[in-house]
Amino acid sequence: MTPPEPAQRDPRLDGTAIHSSVVDLIGDTPLVRLKRISETHAIPSVLAMKMETENPGGSSKDRPALEMILDAEREGLLQSGGTIVEPTSGNTGVGLAIVAAQRGYRCVFVMTDKVAPEKIALLKAYGAEVLVCPVAVEPDDPQSYYKVAERLTKERGAFRPNQYENPSNPISHTLTTGPELWRQTDGRITHFVAGAGTCGTITGVARYLKEQNPDIQIVAADPEGSVFSGGSGRPYLVEGVGEDFFPAAWVPELYDEVIAISDGESFLTAREVSRVEGILVGGSGGLAVAAAIQVAKRAQPDDIVVVLNPDSGRGYLSRVFDDEWMVNYGFLAECEQCVGTVLEVARDIEELLYVNPDHTVRQAIELMRINGVSQLPVCKNTPPFAAAEVSGAVDELDLMDAINRDPAVMDTPIDTVMGPKLPTVGVGQRLEQAIAMLERSPALLVLSGGRPVNILTRTDVLSYFEAVADVGEIHRTA
Ligand code: PMP
Repeated sequence: MTPPEPAQRDPRLDGTAIHSSVVDLIGDTPLVRLKRISETHAIPSVLAMKMETENPGGSSKDRPALEMILDAEREGLLQSGGTIVEPTSGNTGVGLAIVAAQRGYRCVFVMTDKVAPEKIALLKAYGAEVLVCPVAVEPDDPQSYYKVAERLTKERGAFRPNQYENPSNPISHTLTTGPELWRQTDGRITHFVAGAGTCGTITGVARYLKEQNPDIQIVAADPEGSVFSGGSGRPYLVEGVGEDFFPAAWVPELYDEVIAISDGESFLTAREVSRVEGILVGGSGGLAVAAAIQVAKRAQPDDIVVVLNPDSGRGYLSRVFDDEWMVNYGFLAECEQCVGTVLEVARDIEELLYVNPDHTVRQAIELMRINGVSQLPVCKNTPPFAAAEVSGAVDELDLMDAINRDPAVMDTPIDTVMGPKLPTVGVGQRLEQAIAMLERSPALLVLSGGRPVNILTRTDVLSYFEAVADVGEIHRTA
């Protein structure tokens, strides 16, 4: 078995601008100035964006996908008609599928049932086989997506690129993205800013640019909570960047700075860039631009700051660009007097009361009694929580019922008796919406900036109405 033949040059294409295959369109993406963002933010330096959306798969991941496959061919790990197996749901899958289509490989992607159906459809559209595994199993369960990927790789004698470990991932950026940036700025680039996920982009580019000029500043943008900026790896909502472990390409000596950006700032910046520049960027592009704005504001007028836009906002229309989703997570306000105002006026408990899953039923009852509340969310860790760290809720009615049936539950962990999560409402959501939801649930979990911050109950709304009516009364008699 031999690797596929290198593409033959077709003399009929000589002198034309026809590329011999879509693979030849990977890389050489343009740079564009963020003119309007620079004006709005009073940026003294030149701020430009590397448009990785111009790659055929629409993301920066086409580059490592190609390099990992070429390297596997050179190493004899991938032969004619061979199979590629990778657990991925995102951009790397698209890149691998494109290169595989051209070079005659089969692709099998393994993903969890948490993944949005459009992502599965996208990879299938490129001819890939997609296996969906349950997310709710332990990592060493034979049904877990890691285990399924492992088994398939063995059974089919397949090649597993493993972008988190594969040196060809950063190498692709040292070979292509770095030299492009140097050439496209005429060697005058002073700062490079990119979001870090596998760290392939930031490390690969840094290696090339620091070699040309060690003074070039390399800045990694990271979601708040991720380990790169000193977090513990707790969840955040921006996709494709940040990690809860250090991948092989993490080389902190190469980075001059790591800037942590919140989910809220990432999403609002993505929306701002899309609106004012006409460049539709995703959440991780928004994160990178938010960090680049900080860098470019501090830079000198002659400096050239380049931020890399990894992919398009098209993949995030139902989240970052959906007003309802943004309001529900507490990233946007849709009114002046909304849920947040009710909390300020009516609720005397300012912080979120909660129990951890391993707290006992007895502890939950005590917390409810001391504070005079009837519901508690069950959350992992300590505040500030991410929405994803909420696993359920307990209600005094459920507890009463459970203890009545079996008094021994008193000293069992709360997660054995907890009920479903409370419905969520954003801090900037209309009160009418919250009232409609309170008809079905006695309490709502209030989110601000994507994080649970308090509980809203029917009593809170009534106290608010009472307080507002009192103020009205004073105004009328004054
Ligand atoms: N943004 C998005 C949307 C991505 O898919 C990725 C790749 N995980 C990145 C940013 C970060 O790139 P890298 O993996 O090279 O650090």
